[in-house]
Amino acid sequence: MIGPEIERLIQLLGKLPGLGPRSARRAALHLMKRRESLLVPLSEAMALAAEAIRTCEVCGNIDTRTPCTVCADPTRDRSTICVVEDAGDLWALERTRSYRGTYHVLGGTLSALQGVGPDDLNIASLVERARDGAVKEVILALNATVDGQTTAHVVTDRLAAADVTVSRLAHGVPVGGELDYLDDGTLTAALKARRPF
Ligand code: ZN
Repeated sequence: MIGPEIERLIQLLGKLPGLGPRSARRAALHLMKRRESLLVPLSEAMALAAEAIRTCEVCGNIDTRTPCTVCADPTRDRSTICVVEDAGDLWALERTRSYRGTYHVLGGTLSALQGVGPDDLNIASLVERARDGAVKEVILALNATVDGQTTAHVVTDRLAAADVTVSRLAHGVPVGGELDYLDDGTLTAALKARRPF
């Protein structure tokens, strides 16, 4: 029904997060109908990105330079390192514009099920950075999942070798959130993390 080039396009689009086979077909058709205005510029942008991307040798962030834009920025506060699972979490924190320290990207979480151990993550390089004397605080901004919290414990244990304060993000009621809509785990965490009013 369709040529192998288009089949291949649909198959690859279907590997993107959030796209199943049906939405991959729709996306492929959308691109094909907009060959000059979208498909050609997109394929050029992808080729350039594929050529340019680098993993930061300091923090593990993905960028087009190493050290990355954050690590190379002289205005960033080098006394604080915020630890995240992947670059998407770093981007989310940067969007808030409320953090001016540096980051460390672990590259995932520990997972007994998927066979991910401490040596598969960038933990050793974090401990090395934390021990260099300039770093005062390490903030663990890991997901509030079982694997995320297991990882937080292991990272905290390893950081005992460095003279730093280890903190983590507060868990609780989201801004604008209504108590009635929260799951039990979130509500319990919010109650435990209560503060004087
Ligand atoms: Zn970096």
